[in-house]
Amino acid sequence: MIDRICISLSDRCNLNCAYCHFREKKTMDPAPMDALEILRHVKEYAHGPFKIGFVGDGEPFLELDLLKECLRFMEDSPFLQAYTITNGTIPLSAEDIRFLERHSVNVGVSLDGYQTLHDRNRCNSFERVMENVRQYRDVAGHFPTFNATVGPESLRNREAVFSFFEPFGSKVTFSRMIGPHGISLPAYRAFLDEAEKRLPIRRGGLDCTMYGGQCAAGTNNYFFANGKVYYCGNCVDLPPVADSSVRFSDLERLSLTFDRSRCYKESL
Ligand code: SF4
Ligand code: SF4
Repeated sequence: MIDRICISLSDRCNLNCAYCHFREKKTMDPAPMDALEILRHVKEYAHGPFKIGFVGDGEPFLELDLLKECLRFMEDSPFLQAYTITNGTIPLSAEDIRFLERHSVNVGVSLDGYQTLHDRNRCNSFERVMENVRQYRDVAGHFPTFNATVGPESLRNREAVFSFFEPFGSKVTFSRMIGPHGISLPAYRAFLDEAEKRLPIRRGGLDCTMYGGQCAAGTNNYFFANGKVYYCGNCVDLPPVADSSVRFSDLERLSLTFDRSRCYKESL
């Protein structure tokens, strides 16, 4: 049973982060995709909680009008829950923040930690991100959640990373930096063991080893981008599994069997 998907609303991004695997791979051909058609198929299929992540190879708040259209389209379904992950550099109006809150969207902001750590890989965007995080808190009454990429410097300075996030009191999703400058799965898991003693973190589940869970490739979770469907955002340099117009009952038949404590992509 599929119970979550990510939809990349476009491939446009205003940053060029050093570790961005989408920019590194550059394998997907830009192509139009009908996000409302995907949501229509989800509505036909879902008979229980179903998560829609508006996240992918572009910055979702650059497509704010389309994002809002999608959220309005989801309003009449009791099963659909939305989240998005933004790079935090696009200022939102108070009305837009209230719109996201009214639609119960979990807004995650990519923030790696203290300023020098964040700025090193994320285009010196720390000040802009923090300003928008504060604006979000002022309007919504709470901080957004955070998504922090864990690389070698985070491992070396883990105390400083934990101390940075503690005052927010928001959930942090630590993800493993992959690629040539990334870290090993055991080192990442040891970091999570320490982090969860200090912070509310997201961990576990059938999702992705990069987020501390098990690999979900070919099970309950698919990634829609550029008119195609992929096993996940890290599998975009593998052949797509379907076109984005696919029915979910057909996607269900594409299941994979392997050791899910490992990353499917890394085991190829
Ligand atoms: S903000 Fe996200 S999509 Fe954009 S370059 Fe950075 S990692 Fe890639
Ligand atoms: S293939 Fe790797 S990156 Fe993709 S969902 Fe599985 S663990 Fe995560």
